[in-house]
Amino acid sequence: MRTVKRLPITLVRGQGARVWDAEDKEYLDFVAGWAVNSLGHCHPAVVQALQQQAQTLIHASNQFYTIPQVQLAQMLIEHSCLDRVFFCNSGAEANEGAMKLARRYGKLRLNGAFEIVTTRDSFHGRTLAMVAATGQNKFQEPYIPLPDGFVNVDYNNIEAIKTVTSPRTCAVMLEPVQGEGGVNVPDKSYLKEIKNWCDKKGILLILDEIQTGIGRMGTLFAYEQYGVEPDIMTLAKGLGSGVPIGAFLAKERVSVFTPGEHGSTFGGSPLICAASLASLKFIIENDVPSQVKRVGQYFVNGLGKLKAQFDFISEIRGGGLLLALGFTKDIAAEIVLECLKEGLLVNPVKPNAIRFMPPLIITEKEVDEALDILKTVFNRRSKNGK
Ligand SMILES: *Cc1c(COP(=O)(O)O)cnc(C)c1O
Repeated sequence: MRTVKRLPITLVRGQGARVWDAEDKEYLDFVAGWAVNSLGHCHPAVVQALQQQAQTLIHASNQFYTIPQVQLAQMLIEHSCLDRVFFCNSGAEANEGAMKLARRYGKLRLNGAFEIVTTRDSFHGRTLAMVAATGQNKFQEPYIPLPDGFVNVDYNNIEAIKTVTSPRTCAVMLEPVQGEGGVNVPDKSYLKEIKNWCDKKGILLILDEIQTGIGRMGTLFAYEQYGVEPDIMTLAKGLGSGVPIGAFLAKERVSVFTPGEHGSTFGGSPLICAASLASLKFIIENDVPSQVKRVGQYFVNGLGKLKAQFDFISEIRGGGLLLALGFTKDIAAEIVLECLKEGLLVNPVKPNAIRFMPPLIITEKEVDEALDILKTVFNRRSKNGK
């Protein structure tokens, strides 16, 4: 339906951090299916889990227990600060579920409070309610009127949250680092101040870790770096290393659903959970988050050298392996096409910024390759007096 302006290549296969198009041209993939392919393309652990589960049990209704679902839930609980999990199929669905849980909590525990505070430049998904939650005019304007009950305030501004909090408020929801909004990192104290405010008011903190979770920022979850524990957390993208899965997790005291109040036909299917379990197990057992921290820092150092060399680079943003390079001009779309020609996939997250979200298992050597391509592209621009 032409909802995406596609790039002019067809991808046919992938291995590790590389993909190949229909002409067999090779690319280094620093988009990774939008921060999805945590272990890169066709990682043996994931492929084997899918193959094995595909010949054992592909799908069953959620009226029954299945082993991969229970094991995945167990692993998420053991490695996070949360106690309960619900599985679904995407990020938007995870956020929808998290907000339904917050509303249910508001109804039962907060005198019917239902309003959810979210931030400008956020991204929470494409369903009607998540468009209302997403504080970006370009996503909202085409679909007005939107569902009620969301208040958008400035990001990285604790006072803005305090100002709009009322007896109607049941939760604050935000990303620890805004991904789609441009890789915006808030002040170190921001999350902690929000958490303190939420606790004071008895309202819930929902962290959307759909992009930042599962090692992307150099810790298994981004909240670990801010000294806060969310009441509810949402996951998707990197959780399955490529298979469609979303999840929301909650503290026991917040987990107020009773049977029948929420559900999903496909969510938590054995096939998808088996793949996701294999991926998460690999990430935890091999301490991939530490590797992300190390290689991410190496990448930032390399980008710093480029910044010193080219005056149209204005900024390096982000952390771990969620990074952006800001430009003084709106050249991101051109840079992306030039990188594509040279065999590197990157994302124009803003008209004046490109984003890097490679597989978590990327090596220093592959980062060097990407830096070389960027340098070639930037050099050519400089020579042409652009
Ligand atoms: C991608 C993303 C979503 C939406 O996920 P979908 O799987 O596309 O529905 C929600 N929140 C954040 C932070 C995201 O990055």
